[in-house]
Amino acid sequence: MPSTNTVIIGAGHCGLAMSACLTARSIDHVILERAEVANSWRTQRWDSLRLLTPNWMTRLPGYQYRGADPDGYLSARGVAAMLADYAHASAAPVRTGTTVTSVRAAGGGYVVHTDQGVWHAPTVVLASGAAAVPTTPGLARLVPAGITSVTPARYRSPAGLPPGGVLVVGASSGVQLADELHRSGRPVTLAIGEHVRMPRTYRGRDILWWLDAAGVLDQRYDEVDDLVRARNVPSMQLVGTPGRTVDLNALSSAGVRLTGRLAGIQDGVAQFSGSLPNVCALADLKLGRLLDTIDAWAGTAGERFAPTAVRTAPLGLDLRSGEISTIVWATGYRPDLSWLHVPVLDRKGRIVHDGGVTASPGLYVMGLPFLRRRKSTLIDGAAGDAAELTAHLAGHLDALAGRRERSAS
Ligand SMILES: Cc1cc2nc3c(=O)[nH]c(=O)nc-3n(C[C@H](O)[C@H](O)[C@H](O)COP(=O)(O)OP(=O)(O)OC[C@H]3O[C@@H](n4cnc5c(N)ncnc54)[C@H](O)[C@@H]3O)c2cc1C
Repeated sequence: MPSTNTVIIGAGHCGLAMSACLTARSIDHVILERAEVANSWRTQRWDSLRLLTPNWMTRLPGYQYRGADPDGYLSARGVAAMLADYAHASAAPVRTGTTVTSVRAAGGGYVVHTDQGVWHAPTVVLASGAAAVPTTPGLARLVPAGITSVTPARYRSPAGLPPGGVLVVGASSGVQLADELHRSGRPVTLAIGEHVRMPRTYRGRDILWWLDAAGVLDQRYDEVDDLVRARNVPSMQLVGTPGRTVDLNALSSAGVRLTGRLAGIQDGVAQFSGSLPNVCALADLKLGRLLDTIDAWAGTAGERFAPTAVRTAPLGLDLRSGEISTIVWATGYRPDLSWLHVPVLDRKGRIVHDGGVTASPGLYVMGLPFLRRRKSTLIDGAAGDAAELTAHLAGHLDALAGRRERSAS
């Protein structure tokens, strides 16, 4: 059975960042990847996707974007190419085409079964992705026959959907999809629950420049009042187009029909919550607070944006009328840790951890929302998290070595 100090599962940016930090400390390791480096960017992103984060924010341990367009936004293909180059440049020990089928604790370490053999290691890093599986609400099973359901992981472009109207459920990445579908000439309805309103630019700069400079994205997990809540905040409502804000006002002016959260489907009729005005008012309020934080950092007051204008929103939509041919479920993602047989999951199957350190010694996780910082799920968040987890992991290996020495003497 081959052995190494650390098995990293997944060669996305998190696994590669962790690998770079382990290499810097000369910790022997391997990255097991079921497909290719950056698999999720190759296989689970729609054609037009652009990162929401500007190129200058594409930073990894020992890597900083040096291209000609620091204020642009990488395409999914561009991210995949960047990560493949990074893996090559950092000589990451990736075993591609190797699917991990189980991880079990054994002999003070872990036995990792794959479809290419078995590994043994005292430490394991789970970097298999927070957004591995799209989540859809239970009511999705009540959608009448004849309507196509698709998730963002499968959606590629408007041309791939049957002709007709589209109901997009979810207003985070859902705003990007609603915008694209509407521009393709389709009637679009967008069902909106809790969301994080964000202008693309503020005070003449990309909003992410301000969030970065003012330290908002660096806020640590042990500094927030309600970590559970912070970890469940939806992702930012942004579109990766320079200077162009696509918010609910822009969509509604363009002709997208806005409704409240999809609350139920009864006898083929989609029922929407009447809470849209409240949900929008709350998002406006939170945006105002965020801009206040930025202004306090900048020392002067900046502009304010028009409140979200909510016109009368329909409370029901007959899905059998033929008006809607497709529902896009932009309702979030979850990790897939079905192969993890170590008792570190709660009863909902979520991994329990303290800043990426699990209660099972030597078992770590990367890339989850607010793992150690507000930016933990962003590419830019991996460097800091990986450095700190590597320090913890190195301490664990040292302790194991010390124990072995003591028992040998
Ligand atoms: C639609 C979308 C847009 C995003 N936009 C941005 C953005 O603008 N800016 C930004 O910074 N971040 C963005 N993110 C967030 C984040 O950067 C990505 O989710 C990123 O892919 C997460 O990296 P990761 O390394 O944690 O996981 P992944 O990239 O998902 O990598 C996990 C890897 O593990 C492999 N794997 C999984 N299971 C196994 C197994 N059992 N055995 C072996 N290998 C396995 C997978 O094949 C995959 O290659 C976005 C995410 C999504 C979903």
